[in-house]
Amino acid sequence: MSVRSNIDRLRETVPEKVKIVAVSKFHSVEEIKEAYDDGQLHFGESRVQELEEKQPLLPADIEWHFVGSLQRNKVRFIAPFVSLVHSLDSARLMREIDKRAAANNRVIPCLLQLHVADEETKSGFMPDECRKFLADGKWKECRNVQIAGIMGMTTFTEDTEQVRKEFRLLKSLFDEFKSEYFADDDSFKEISMGMSGDYPIAIEEGATIIRVGTLIFGERGY
Ligand SMILES: *Cc1c(COP(=O)(O)O)cnc(C)c1O
Repeated sequence: MSVRSNIDRLRETVPEKVKIVAVSKFHSVEEIKEAYDDGQLHFGESRVQELEEKQPLLPADIEWHFVGSLQRNKVRFIAPFVSLVHSLDSARLMREIDKRAAANNRVIPCLLQLHVADEETKSGFMPDECRKFLADGKWKECRNVQIAGIMGMTTFTEDTEQVRKEFRLLKSLFDEFKSEYFADDDSFKEISMGMSGDYPIAIEEGATIIRVGTLIFGERGY
């Protein structure tokens, strides 16, 4: 199957209002170009060095999403061009993104990554930790970061009811934060959840952005 036909098939099953981020980590610039030529503009990468290498080789109007865990000392490499950081998970990281965004005269939109999975390995704020972070209010001082919503990953399991429950928890956290802190802020609107294995459930539960790799590009050769 070609990248193009994979994307075409995916688009048939995804409502137009849901944004598809094509997660291209470990895939070549040629494969990304094939998706781009089919009209795909949003791509996701999870490693700074890989993104840094690919970005200059590809069209400038691509919107790059950073979906992996982001180390503070690497923020400066992607700050000039990144469109949306999905993995904001600490006040210290936020201050660094703010500083690097300011140095580039821009505002960087970020999503609060929430840990809802039943797995130690997944990163993100625990829900209570995120509540504290928002209640504390210091984030408002970071004027070059725009908190644009939330992101989350579910447990890697065949149990679709558990996955659905975790998506529901993410949606309810979004609603809570929206009403408590962002009711007047139209830019707080994104719920990034759902990957190749579970995106249909994520859409049913309110995803506005899905992050799909394998279904578009095939298996990754790690
Ligand atoms: C790799 C990755 C994806 C895409 O996963 P697939 O199962 O290949 O669709 C989505 N989100 C994040 C954070 C990832 O690291």
